[in-house]
Amino acid sequence: MIPVMNLSRQYKILKEELDQSVVDVLSSGEFILGKRVRKFEEEFAEYCGTKYAVGVGNGTDALVIALKACGVKAGDEVITSAMSFIATAEAIVSVGAIPVFVDCTLDTYTIDANQIEQKITNRTKAIIPVHLYGQCADMGAIGEIAKRYKLKVVEDAAQAAGALYKGHRAGSLADIGCFSFFPTKNLGCAGDGGIIVTSSEELYKYCLALRVHGSGENGYYVYRMSHKMENEEYEINFKTNQPKYYNYISGFNSRLDEIQAAILSVKLPYIEEWNLKRRKYAEEYDKNILNKKFKKPFCKKENESVYYVYIIMTEDRDSLRSYLRANGIDSGVYFPLPLHLQKVFESLGYRNGDMPNAEYLAKHNVAIPMFPELTQKEREKIIDVLNHF
Ligand SMILES: *Cc1c(COP(=O)(O)O)cnc(C)c1O
Repeated sequence: MIPVMNLSRQYKILKEELDQSVVDVLSSGEFILGKRVRKFEEEFAEYCGTKYAVGVGNGTDALVIALKACGVKAGDEVITSAMSFIATAEAIVSVGAIPVFVDCTLDTYTIDANQIEQKITNRTKAIIPVHLYGQCADMGAIGEIAKRYKLKVVEDAAQAAGALYKGHRAGSLADIGCFSFFPTKNLGCAGDGGIIVTSSEELYKYCLALRVHGSGENGYYVYRMSHKMENEEYEINFKTNQPKYYNYISGFNSRLDEIQAAILSVKLPYIEEWNLKRRKYAEEYDKNILNKKFKKPFCKKENESVYYVYIIMTEDRDSLRSYLRANGIDSGVYFPLPLHLQKVFESLGYRNGDMPNAEYLAKHNVAIPMFPELTQKEREKIIDVLNHF
C-alpha cells in the first residue's frame, strides 16, 4: 500500500544524525529549556524571517499562548475559517473567547477575506487565518482589515512551515505565527512540539512568560507592562533568587523539550529540499492527472505552497477511496466536517448551509499520497490509477 504520509522512510535517511542528537541530550542530562531549545528557536526564527521564536508543547498550545499574549480574553470574539483542524477553534475557546466562523473560498480553500468584515463586532479582538494544506491565506487583505479595525492577527501556520506569501514566510506575515511539529506535519518532531514566532519584543516576552507559569523576569516584565509600571527597581534579583518561584501572571506549563528541539535542529536544514520535492510532485500531479472527474488544487501566484497535503475534489469520494485502496493506494480526508457543524460548537447556533464552501469541501476532498520520499514509480502509479478511475 502506498501511504498518504510516511515517517519511517525519512528516519532511515537521517538515522545516524537523529540517533546521535537524541543520545547527546540523554547524556547531557539537560531536558527542559536548555541550550538546544534556544538554538532551535534562533534557527527557526531566522528561517521564518522573524526576530524571535518561543518553543512550546504543541501547536494547539502555541495558538492558546499566542491569543493570550495578544490580549484575547473571556467574552471576546475571534474570527477564523470554518475549514480547519479543531485546534484552531479550540484555542479560542481555551482563552474564554468565542469563535466566529467565516466560510473558505472555493479556489484556495483558505478563509474568504471578503466575508470577514461582516462578521466583525465591537467584541472582535483577533483574526486567525489558517494556511490550509500548505498554502498561505489572503494575508494582504486580512492585514488591511485588521489594521482598519485594530485587530490582532494570529497565523495558524501548523500546515505551512516554509510556505511563502509574496516572498515572505508563513509565520512572519502578521503579529504572531503558530506552528505544530506533530510528527506528520511537513516539519515534524518525534512526539508533540510547537513554536510561536513574532518580531514583537512585547509579544515575545509575553509568550516566554506564559509557557513557564508566568514566572521570573519575563512574567515580571508582563506584570509591569500591564500595571503601567516604569523605571521602578526590580523587586528581586532574578540572577540569584530562583526566579521560577516568583509568579506574576497566570500561565501554562508548555515547553518544547530538549529532545524534540535536538531532532528539529537536525531536520530544519532539510526543510527547503523537502518542500521543493513536495512542490515538484504537486506539479507532476497537476500536469498528469487528467481525469475530468477531479478538481485539482489551485495555488495563487503570490503563494508558494508547501503541499502539506495534495487535495483533489471528487463528487464520489467513497468509490474513489475504495478504488484507490483496491489498487494499493491509501488516501485521507482533511477534514470530513467543518468546524461550525461540529457538535462541540452546537451552542453557537450555526446550521447546515451557513458555510456552503466549507461544507462542500468537507464532503468532497480526498488527500492523495504526498511526502518527499515518495518514489517516482509510486507517483506514476498514483497518476495512472487516478486517470483510470
Ligand atoms: C496540526 C494542527 C494544529 C495543532 O497542532 P498540534 O501540535 O497537534 O496541537 C493546529 N492547526 C492546524 C491547522 C493543524 O493542522
